[in-house]
Amino acid sequence: MPYSHHSHSGQFCKHALGSLEEVVLEAIKQRFEVYGLTEHVPRYRLEDLYPEEVVSPLPTGYTSKLFCQRALSICDLSNQFMRFLDEAHRLKEVYAPQIILLVGLETEYITDDDLNHLHTFLRDNERRIDYIVGSVHHVSSIPIDFDRDTYEKALASFSGGEGVHIPGNRQMEQFLSAYFDAQHALIRQFQPEIIGHLDLCRLYSPSLDLKQYPIAWGKLVRNIEEAVHYGALFEINSAALKKEGWTSPYPGKDVVAVSTDHVTLHHRCFLTVLSLSRRKMADSLCLMTVTDRGLSVSITSMWQTT
Ligand SMILES: [Zn+2]
Ligand SMILES: [Zn+2]
Repeated sequence: MPYSHHSHSGQFCKHALGSLEEVVLEAIKQRFEVYGLTEHVPRYRLEDLYPEEVVSPLPTGYTSKLFCQRALSICDLSNQFMRFLDEAHRLKEVYAPQIILLVGLETEYITDDDLNHLHTFLRDNERRIDYIVGSVHHVSSIPIDFDRDTYEKALASFSGGEGVHIPGNRQMEQFLSAYFDAQHALIRQFQPEIIGHLDLCRLYSPSLDLKQYPIAWGKLVRNIEEAVHYGALFEINSAALKKEGWTSPYPGKDVVAVSTDHVTLHHRCFLTVLSLSRRKMADSLCLMTVTDRGLSVSITSMWQTT
């Protein structure tokens, strides 16, 4: 009886594969009971488009035309998200006898503008959004999960001196703190039902011991406490397994330990979300189990989806 509250499709997200309907059919085939369809909300600034989203880059010098093409892409992102909602609700109805589909969104927090847009969007589309996956993918407005170079740029946006990978380094402390503060703003303002990839901030430093950064660690614990307080679910995300150096899903075991410390019997099921990610390369699913004796983060099943 697997279920997932976080997914993407190639139809509405450039870093995934397959049409939304194909994703749903696969979820049915894999006997999912509940499956959440959660494309990223649109981004609103030209500079926030990912390279693959920029339509046919033009030669240097064609700035205005390039602007035009990029602007079109920005516009496309918004239209694309509305088409996603239409299609997701159509599929929800069509496949209702076979699977419970939930329609949600995954947040972006690049600048405060994203949160302002999100407030407006949720107000205007209240009935069409079943739930929110609260995720942060940027620090200092720079993507932290795109590639290592970009991640290093985000890190370098903080002044902290040399030796960034030395435990306790100030630059890393500031970087992590900024990430957890952004996550906190999401938690405070939107109370997302699902907290997406809680510790994505160490995607490119999988062995990073967060406890070596006491300020950031305090912020992480604060976020977990506040999210538990209103009953959020913390996602177990299999995407990490495709990344170099990761041997566990997000979040890492140290973070899971904090999370479980704050779980009462009442919140027994709070750490139960898994992720179907039809990304390029090793498309996979992982299945987590929660038992009466507690929460365990282990992969009990994994298979190819394409
Ligand atoms: Zn996602
Ligand atoms: Zn994400």
